[in-house]
Amino acid sequence: MNDFVTTSARDGSNKSLWQEAAATSGAETFDLNTIYDVLIVGGGITGITAAILLQKQGKKVILAEAHSIGFGTTGGTTSHLNTFFDTPYPQIESDFGEDGAKLVAKAGKETLDLIASLVTEYSIDCDFQYKDGYLFSQNEKETKQLDEILASSQKVGIDATESNINGVPLQFDKAVVFKGQAQFHPLKYINKLAEVFVQNDGVILNNTFINDLKKEGEAYTATDGSLNIKASQVFYATHMPPGINISNFTCAPYRSYVIGVTLKDNNYPDCLSYDMKEPYHYFRTHEVNGQKYLIVGGEDHKTGHGAPEQSFAALEEYVRGIYNVYEVAYKWSSQYYEPADGLPYIGKMPLGGNDVFMATGYSGNGIIFGSLSARIITDLICGIENPYEKLFSPSRIKPVAGFTEFVKENADVAWKFIADRFSSEDIDSLNELKAGDGMIAKYKGDKVAVYKDEQGTIHALSPVCTHAKCIVSFNPEEKSWDCPCHGGRFSIDGKVLTGPPQHDLQKIDVQ
Ligand SMILES: Cc1cc2nc3c(=O)[nH]c(=O)nc-3n(C[C@H](O)[C@H](O)[C@H](O)COP(=O)(O)OP(=O)(O)OC[C@H]3O[C@@H](n4cnc5c(N)ncnc54)[C@H](O)[C@@H]3O)c2cc1C
Repeated sequence: MNDFVTTSARDGSNKSLWQEAAATSGAETFDLNTIYDVLIVGGGITGITAAILLQKQGKKVILAEAHSIGFGTTGGTTSHLNTFFDTPYPQIESDFGEDGAKLVAKAGKETLDLIASLVTEYSIDCDFQYKDGYLFSQNEKETKQLDEILASSQKVGIDATESNINGVPLQFDKAVVFKGQAQFHPLKYINKLAEVFVQNDGVILNNTFINDLKKEGEAYTATDGSLNIKASQVFYATHMPPGINISNFTCAPYRSYVIGVTLKDNNYPDCLSYDMKEPYHYFRTHEVNGQKYLIVGGEDHKTGHGAPEQSFAALEEYVRGIYNVYEVAYKWSSQYYEPADGLPYIGKMPLGGNDVFMATGYSGNGIIFGSLSARIITDLICGIENPYEKLFSPSRIKPVAGFTEFVKENADVAWKFIADRFSSEDIDSLNELKAGDGMIAKYKGDKVAVYKDEQGTIHALSPVCTHAKCIVSFNPEEKSWDCPCHGGRFSIDGKVLTGPPQHDLQKIDVQ
């Protein structure tokens, strides 16, 4: 339990650029008899930032991470720090009013300042740099949307103006520059915060997958099956709260794809840049060990629904069409959660009592929203009034905002339940399975998730997701079993990697 992490792991088999330069992060002695003030579950940017902020408020904090620090999406992000978001200000304004949109803008700016101040306070060597961010249109429809975004951004107090450049070598109709955006190395940042937390008597337990939580008297007992942790308050900083809960209906899981390439001509962009396609492409540069990389993301699809190899191929083709690529040095994909009404859900867990907290639904903006969550939850736990509590509350009722999306996402979930479980198109032979590949096969009349490793050994699992009983599908790029319903993901040996499942896939002994 009290181990030291020397390399950085991630919830997929592809290595992200960030895993190269991750620092060591330590764990400390855990006292079985202590009732901690707060248990934080999850060691991504949300959990680690909350650990630091709560500790600064004098709280005795323990953090349990299922794998190691940065294992989740924080290790697979692209780390743009923005004050404009995937849900554009005109939509926020229309769904949450002008005051709501102004609050979101203020929260974004304050959170970027918070990150910058932590970088300064702890002298974090994480390549933090302010950059201009360009959003550009390439057709009439996008230009109309961009005009609305510019007007609304200015109205809510964001520093945005029309620009005659877009920062990347692509034709554009119109461009807007957002000043004061930023970028950093996400793992260097959270690893340093984790070190500071531990130095100040915070406890980090790696390899501790919390799968049960019970209230016993005044305190909660959380367990990973063997170890019991006691705490007065609990924050699920797990990107998606575990188990069956309201977030299964208000958030939809998506995969986004990233490649890190080197260029023949050194024409790396010195900015953040975004087109307006659906899904959009995003660009930036980062230097690791003296080598610059152009990082481009996009080609998103719902988890378990797309074809990962095609997404990577499309992204590479797109980048090669724009830049003089020398080599694709990195490619990876990672998961995010799209909220039904466009804003994250941060606060008290609905039906979870007064002392259990959650944060999810960040879209592709969770470096900012995860840090904002840490601030909001710290205030809620410490009894400090927070101006954003109501706006982001997971219990908010927005019957109009996002309703269409809500129906669409959940109609899809219902379809998967029925069609996958009762489909008759079963494959009943393993012969066609290549080494390194997986498929749903039929074995003695039952569906089985089988993976053949490079040595030819078959790894067989029940394909029924332990979360809501949907059938998982194989992700050949990340070598994982991905659930199309709520985004639960499992390793080829059935271990939970990502999402709401609380139990591993059942192993099947194939003779
Ligand atoms: C490809 C991609 C690019 C992105 N780019 C950007 C960007 O440029 N800017 C931006 O702002 N956002 C971006 N995002 C979003 C952002 O990266 C994420 O929202 C953010 O990293 C989420 O952080 P987190 O700490 O909440 O979750 P995670 O980083 O996923 O951490 C959650 C942790 O909880 C652990 N855990 C889960 N369940 C349990 C359990 N039961 N017990 C113990 N531990 C558990 C996991 O192992 C994991 O380490 C991007 C997302 C993707 C997919």
